[in-house]
Amino acid sequence: MENIDIKNTNFEIPSDVLDEIQKNIEHIIKSFDVPEDNKTEVIKKINFMYTQTKQLSVTDPLTRLYNRRRFESDIVREYARAKRYKSPLSLAIIDIDFFKKINDTYGHSCGDYVLSELAYLMINNFRQTDIICRYGGEEFAVILTETPATNVIIPLERLRKTVESYNFKYQGQLLNITISIGVSSNINFADALQMFDDADNALYEAKKLGRNMIRSSE
Ligand code: GH3
Ligand code: MG
Ligand code: MG
Repeated sequence: MENIDIKNTNFEIPSDVLDEIQKNIEHIIKSFDVPEDNKTEVIKKINFMYTQTKQLSVTDPLTRLYNRRRFESDIVREYARAKRYKSPLSLAIIDIDFFKKINDTYGHSCGDYVLSELAYLMINNFRQTDIICRYGGEEFAVILTETPATNVIIPLERLRKTVESYNFKYQGQLLNITISIGVSSNINFADALQMFDDADNALYEAKKLGRNMIRSSE
């Protein structure tokens, strides 16, 4: 058996394991021999704990955004939905420029502050129907449902400008933060992974062309 790193706060219980737990709840309660008059309370409590754990398994602890696991299942579903109903879909990958320098200059906690603050700006910037995820260290993915290439640029450019002019302030120190964005609105691929690669290639272009900009695959 693999050793579990108890210091790893990012440890998450896989959703399929949680589903298995949910299925077994009734069974577990029976084996506990809970008195009849307490049964409803116990079921409620277990269900609450289950829901909370399930939520944690798809949440990034630092930013409270959805994590990569949730992103991966959501993009597969939204991609399939867009293809089936021929509805527009856009996928943006957002990466902080020269983020390593922020950590190296001001420390890791400062980097963490920037990540949390950026998450807050993103939540305020996008629609409630858009799905915002922390994909990796300083990379975020946003699934913009019902959004074609011509429209997606509006919220992305608004975010880019907001971040560029926002006063990120850590321990009295003002920080200049910018982001680069790659976006794909192409749903003619075989699967969602290819759409992701398409957006990622666009991000690579944005970095190469000088950062603090949005590039799309088309
Ligand atoms: P580029 O403009 O090309 O994106 O440069 P970059 O420095 O942002 O990119 P690079 O991939 O070289 O570095 C990413 C850095 O992100 C590495 C690490 O210091 C930082 N990082 C990743 N995850 C975390 C985190 O959870 N907290 C903090 N504070 N920093 C993190
Ligand atoms: Mg990166
Ligand atoms: Mg970066």
